[in-house]
Amino acid sequence: MTIPTKTVADPRLSHGRWLRIPGPTVVHPNAVAAQTHDMIAHRSPEMTAFMAELRDKARRAHRTEGNVLMWAGSGSAGWEAGIVNLLSPGDKVVATACGAFGERFASLGTQFGLDVHRVEVEWGQAVTPELFETALAAAGPVAAVFITHNETSTGVTNPLRELAALARARNALILVDAVSSAGAMPLEVDGWDLDWVFSGVQKAWMCPPGIMMAAISERAMHASKKTGFNRFYFDLGPMAAAAEQGTTATTPAISLLYALDAALDAVLEEGLERVWARHHRLGNEFRAGLDKLEVKVLAEPGYVSDSVTAFRSPNGMSSGEFQARIADSTGIVIATGQGSLATSHNRVGHMGWTEQPEMDATLEAIAAAI
Ligand SMILES: *Cc1c(COP(=O)(O)O)cnc(C)c1O
Repeated sequence: MTIPTKTVADPRLSHGRWLRIPGPTVVHPNAVAAQTHDMIAHRSPEMTAFMAELRDKARRAHRTEGNVLMWAGSGSAGWEAGIVNLLSPGDKVVATACGAFGERFASLGTQFGLDVHRVEVEWGQAVTPELFETALAAAGPVAAVFITHNETSTGVTNPLRELAALARARNALILVDAVSSAGAMPLEVDGWDLDWVFSGVQKAWMCPPGIMMAAISERAMHASKKTGFNRFYFDLGPMAAAAEQGTTATTPAISLLYALDAALDAVLEEGLERVWARHHRLGNEFRAGLDKLEVKVLAEPGYVSDSVTAFRSPNGMSSGEFQARIADSTGIVIATGQGSLATSHNRVGHMGWTEQPEMDATLEAIAAAI
């Protein structure tokens, strides 16, 4: 088997730092190394001790004293698991649809037979508290809201704290897609009283893809006991019960849990707030660099994302052409757009194991490609 490897001339881009897409992101070196450890039995004292530590770290990283559970799966598993555990067919929900991912969350709800009321805005704009409140008022009593915290397709961060407060006032369960925000920007699961907050570990958590992690409130645990979708793999009940015993309901992705444990160590060692501040700084500096190059950022000011920036592909180039130019000349891989922005916009991720040097290299590459 030949595993593709890549070497780039620029030393700032070693250790895979040329990968500037919004996930998978550059894997933290300690997470890379952790995966080479031997397997352990998933029902053993070793596992119990390991899981207790891992779950404690995951709780701290989510700012919650509640449950944090992990399933083998990508981030998308969080949409499905949230729906089948917390809702019943026919339930009414309000969903923020401000880009490709919010749209997918809403569509998934429809596919499962929920009565989905979308809050739609032009891509690049945020769902403001005013718009959200209007949608909630129009919808009447709802079982839940679906909020995309950070819309990865547009580089927009929705004002989660404010939106959640409006939903809480109406007694709705709050399901949050935090796939590209958790570990990158302020997110207070308990402080903001959120119910189901899920992410994939291949984004800001600096791990290889393959685990979905969800922070779950008591309220959500309770709701899951009464709600009506058939489910097996994503059933919260057995997973939570197993977690109490220091194990998992089915065989976990043990190597990836090792990686996650090492990555969470790195996050907590740096300090969660310092991690958030670093992302904030890198995002702002990257966009300032784009401004200088007269490259047009998509996101409306005030709602720009600390983890990913979407911008119009310069000089009338298609996004694919611009992406290829940069890859060919420097080895740096940026993303194209998604959905209606697929050919008109590019995206650059600045989340996870990322610092100034590789962002500078990326800006230089963009300047040269222009
Ligand atoms: C990446 C992403 C997803 C989907 O995650 P997968 O791991 O590809 O399944 C969902 N929502 C958001 C906001 C994302 O950025």
